[in-house]
Amino acid sequence: MTHTPATYVGRHQYLGASGSPCQIQYTIDSADHIRFINEAWLQFACQNDGAHLNRAFVIGKSLWDFIDGEDLRHLYAQIFKMVRTKHHTMVFRFRCDSPVCRRYFLMTLSPLLEGSLMLSTHPIREELREPVALLDPDVQRGEPLLRMCSWCIKACLPTEEWVELEEAIKRMDLLGGAEMPRLTHGICQECERTINLELKSLV
Ligand SMILES: [Zn+2]
Repeated sequence: MTHTPATYVGRHQYLGASGSPCQIQYTIDSADHIRFINEAWLQFACQNDGAHLNRAFVIGKSLWDFIDGEDLRHLYAQIFKMVRTKHHTMVFRFRCDSPVCRRYFLMTLSPLLEGSLMLSTHPIREELREPVALLDPDVQRGEPLLRMCSWCIKACLPTEEWVELEEAIKRMDLLGGAEMPRLTHGICQECERTINLELKSLV
């Protein structure tokens, strides 16, 4: 996992001071500039080598500076447009795992006044598992890149097949390797289809 701001904003990832999930919230204005981040957001950044991501650094920045991947940016743009034009709250499920835990969340996008949006996450459940080095922020990384779905955390194999991380590690023979691939973020076909169906239901 690269410690770019995209990790924190684009993937909605966080931990509370106790190490357990807590609610993160942030708002963007009508031009998609970040106007508010809550304490949970800052705590997560601090715990993941992102201490430079304080309010002074983040507030006023464009959200698009923090989201990588064209497909992801395109989908976010569609979602924001729909929430703003329909003035309708949208809720999505997503995964945001740590190396030792599968974590399931809901993300709620709510329209505010004058085109602003509130993005907030709510934890649903967690499942402990054997540590997955692929998600370890301190592991050494090299080529090639590995694309992960920002919604379900599946990984895209070189065959373009999206599989669970554990399966990807087996299929790519990453167990015991000196280096893990660098991670990039996108969206798998299944999640894209689900979100597009949700968007169409609001048209
Ligand atoms: Zn997915």
